[in-house]
Amino acid sequence: IILLKDIRKNFGQTEVLNNINLYVLKNEFVTLLGPSGCGKTTTLRIIGGFETPDSGDIFFEGQRINNLPPYQRNVNTVFQKYALFPHMNVYDNIAFGLKIKGTDKPAISKKVDEMLEMVNLQGFHKRSVDSLSGGQQQRVAIARALVNQPEVLLLDEPLGALDLKLRKEMQVELKNIHKRTGITFVYVTHDQEEALTMSDTIVVMNKGKIQQIGTPQMIYNEPKNAFVADFIGESN
Ligand code: ATP
Repeated sequence: IILLKDIRKNFGQTEVLNNINLYVLKNEFVTLLGPSGCGKTTTLRIIGGFETPDSGDIFFEGQRINNLPPYQRNVNTVFQKYALFPHMNVYDNIAFGLKIKGTDKPAISKKVDEMLEMVNLQGFHKRSVDSLSGGQQQRVAIARALVNQPEVLLLDEPLGALDLKLRKEMQVELKNIHKRTGITFVYVTHDQEEALTMSDTIVVMNKGKIQQIGTPQMIYNEPKNAFVADFIGESN
């Protein structure tokens, strides 16, 4: 569904992405894994259209989308910081994307209910966003990103701000949401355990380059080089 071809990106003198080649299949759960600063977020932002590569091409279902703005790509993003509208309640936060598309009220209401059920927040419609815990806010962010039924969901360390117990719970929930919706997930984390438990495919990155692409089992059992072996072997 997504193809990145020979992507390069510099910020000033810093080479952030050095020839990234990657394809993501429809319905796949792909995780970009690597240490801080290796270029994971930049790769995700290039897919989302928030950043343009210096060279290289991005294809979406065979069509080159380098020049398409984010809102015209069939892609939504969940960030680590929740980026919700703080002055709106839960319902309005989730409904926003449908309202601007001109969806009628009953359809919006039905869809929001469906989303709240999916993220286990039934009955939270009227709650203000700042009265919610971090985990609940992140659930709202996920519901909001899914409400327009994007084909691809980009998740940038979505559980990074949560404590360990909640992170584990949310990992299971996110996996379930992925299964249930069939949406393609591109997930960014620096946590190897999270990547190993959640992904169909892991892309290990370091210093702007892809080190290895494979299933969790392959990455774990047959690391291709010393970097991958060390990084996977480290405990958090
Ligand atoms: P982290 O997990 O810390 O977010 P990352 O692997 O996602 O790391 P990126 O956020 O993609 O890495 O950043 C890669 C490099 O590019 C870093 O050295 C970062 O400082 C630099 N960088 C990212 N965005 C910008 C920007 N807008 N301007 C200048 N440098 C940037």
